[in-house]
Amino acid sequence: MAETALIVIDVQNDFCPGGRLAVAEGDAILPAVNALIAAHEHVILTQDWHPKRHSSFASSHSGRAPFETVDAAYGAQTLWPDHCVQGTRGAAFKAGLDWTKAELVIRKGFRPAIGITHVTLCGLATDYCVAYSALDAVTLGLAVRVEMDACRAIDLGGSLAAMTVKMRDAGVTLA
Ligand SMILES: [Zn+2]
Repeated sequence: MAETALIVIDVQNDFCPGGRLAVAEGDAILPAVNALIAAHEHVILTQDWHPKRHSSFASSHSGRAPFETVDAAYGAQTLWPDHCVQGTRGAAFKAGLDWTKAELVIRKGFRPAIGITHVTLCGLATDYCVAYSALDAVTLGLAVRVEMDACRAIDLGGSLAAMTVKMRDAGVTLA
């Protein structure tokens, strides 16, 4: 296990029921996530951490509503409700997440820790941040496993099925 890092993705108030971009049953993963944290020596957390008026927010695009898509320089961008704004309660980790042993908290983006060859991913949401992190990790040459029981999806327009296929095709182990 020593060369494996557990990466807990965005288990934050805004992605849980009652939050600004709530994932259905987002808080239901806590027991499974905490069990994974207890079972891993190396634990990394990610925290979605947006400035106000971030370009992914629908409120930053006049006449646009959340969950519409706009064209960005890097491809299609889904527009979201304002969420996980830096320093707000919504951006805080969900109460009950047992994260004190985390060695590293990454705010946005993804970087593998030195010496790590395997990563296990869990968190929110399966079909967006978890899936993109998994695909990035594969690109970086890591062996990647996603604990599906410890994830929940937004599932927008079939996004869960589409990203599940993409992850599987990329060689991600879906546990
Ligand atoms: Zn976000």
